[in-house]
Amino acid sequence: MAYKLLLLPGDGIGPEVMVQALSIIRWLQDHRDLDVELDKDLVGGASLAVHEVPIRDEVIEKAKEADAVLFGSVGDPKWKDVSFDRRPEVAILRLRKDLGLYANLRPVRLFDPLLSASALKPEVVKGLDLMIVRETVGGVYFGEPRGIETLPDGTRKGVNTEVYTTPEIERVARVAFEMARLRDGRVCSVEKCNVMESGLLWKEVVTDLHRRDYQDVELSHMLADNCAMQLVRAPRQFDVIVTGNLFGDILSDLASMLTGSLGMLPSATLGSDNGSGKRAALYEPIHGSAPDIAGKGIANPLAQILSLAMLLRYSLQRTGDADLIEMAVTRVLEDGLRTADIATKGEAMVSTEEMGQAVVKKMSELA
Ligand code: NAD
Repeated sequence: MAYKLLLLPGDGIGPEVMVQALSIIRWLQDHRDLDVELDKDLVGGASLAVHEVPIRDEVIEKAKEADAVLFGSVGDPKWKDVSFDRRPEVAILRLRKDLGLYANLRPVRLFDPLLSASALKPEVVKGLDLMIVRETVGGVYFGEPRGIETLPDGTRKGVNTEVYTTPEIERVARVAFEMARLRDGRVCSVEKCNVMESGLLWKEVVTDLHRRDYQDVELSHMLADNCAMQLVRAPRQFDVIVTGNLFGDILSDLASMLTGSLGMLPSATLGSDNGSGKRAALYEPIHGSAPDIAGKGIANPLAQILSLAMLLRYSLQRTGDADLIEMAVTRVLEDGLRTADIATKGEAMVSTEEMGQAVVKKMSELA
């Protein structure tokens, strides 16, 4: 039976990079028997312009029925004055909420030809390949009570509350252990159990789950402040890092800079199994709609293409196709192709289209 894929290109450079991912899907259909039913729809500013909402209920329903969603990016300065609940970015927030996407996966991989693009010394980052699994629907961003109140003495108090329950911790830790089984078999769980009860519970629940179901995976624990330091000092020590919403937000942004460019980084957000063995899943580059370069044909399509590779690996179990795409990307970079964001001074630059088509051609050569 054909897999159902929903493509949501969105705004700015989203549609430009999505075209390149689509040509890889077409190649896989023609040459590797990939059986997919494709659907495409509008989100973000593109949807506002036609339907007056950033995302329609109908699109949410299609996303729920799909085996996976490949998302571009949303955000368009044209809509900056609309009310907060109608902004283009609401599209991705609603998808995450309505599909119950609670685990964000960010692989941080440094392709050898881009060693010089990293902010760190080559000997520290060469061969870097780690994954951060961040809890995304709980923790301090959502906990109650929250708010700002004025105290009797006229001073004000701001409150946010870090809350995690056993099932919330367990389900994201499960994702991390499963990921580790597909990688190097090591999970580092990160919290602040020295000063936070929620961190203490986090550590206990992860340890307990590990003892029950994942003894084949190596588990270690680290305090979040130490983890930030270790990511800069010796990032290659990590395989999979699992952490809560706030620490994950900060650590994953820090880690993304180890590789140099936003245009290279894919991500996945996974939800629960819907009971029929199908897990809600959305794949997207970590970058936004980049309005400063939209329409110029110079965006780097590799983050979108690598998001497609993740989709094939984790939602369609097409490991061979995912490996082929990642290998083709490495080879194209080794051949010296660079879009503007990853070019160093004096290097020749290629367009979005040239980079995307070079990956397709390389896949043909490697297959
Ligand atoms: P951005 O990621 O769009 O751009 C930051 C910088 O990186 C820009 O200079 C941009 O040109 C560059 N860049 C980003 N992707 C690139 C690529 N593939 N190739 C080459 N250069 C690239 O972040 P921003 O400027 O803060 O946000 C722009 C809009 O995107 C905003 O409306 C924001 O809300 C939205 N946004 C959406 C998502 C999403 O859809 N998930 C994520 C982040 C930001």
